[in-house]
Amino acid sequence: MNQHDAANDDKLAPTTHRFTVGLTGGIGSGKTTVANMFAERGAAVIDTDVIAHQLTAANGIAIAPIIAEFGSAFIDASGAMDRAKMRAHVFSDASAKQRLESILHPLIRAETARAAEHAEGLYVIFVVPLLIESGNWTQRVKRILVVDCDEQVQLHRVMQRNALNQSQVQAIMATQATRQQRLQAADDVIVNNSEPAALLPQVTRLHALYEAMGRSI
Ligand code: ADP
Repeated sequence: MNQHDAANDDKLAPTTHRFTVGLTGGIGSGKTTVANMFAERGAAVIDTDVIAHQLTAANGIAIAPIIAEFGSAFIDASGAMDRAKMRAHVFSDASAKQRLESILHPLIRAETARAAEHAEGLYVIFVVPLLIESGNWTQRVKRILVVDCDEQVQLHRVMQRNALNQSQVQAIMATQATRQQRLQAADDVIVNNSEPAALLPQVTRLHALYEAMGRSI
């Protein structure tokens, strides 16, 4: 299958017959924190960032097509994709970004579908940071869960976690969907403005809802 066909196939095939929830939110909103709480309750959590890392690690299946498209200059000494170099390259070149995505997105889609088929439990949560922004993830999941917090809270959490300054975090936030856009797409919202304990009843309620929905699929 050539790359063009793979990209088309990516748009057409259903993700899985499983009941699937797409969990998203801005950087630092609390996606990982919330996903871990669902996993503790028995949800099958599949993180697209983890899968993208595996695909581009040494011996990952994306390495050969990346070399074919970009040359071995973007591969580090260990055989993995040089993420920093590639990030800088696609930041300054929109066509390169599109070419990289046309390699990675179909592979991510296939891997997430495969993982979902094999997952235990009544439902599957895909963690997709750019669910609203990229591709057709909104059609691939049966339900969209947004982790939401005030932009000031988000800013401070990311500054602390990643040791970045305010304008660096704001620059990242500017590349993502707005809070409003995410909330408009949401079927469910978890508010993460206060202490982590405030997440517990929200996660417990939605876990019960998703189990019921997964049972009746
Ligand atoms: P994301 O996966 O959306 O980028 P994380 O779950 O990693 O977000 O959360 C961002 C940072 O904020 C992490 O350092 C996390 O430990 C912290 N954090 C998340 N939720 C809370 C909360 N309710 N109170 C305090 N810190 C939090």
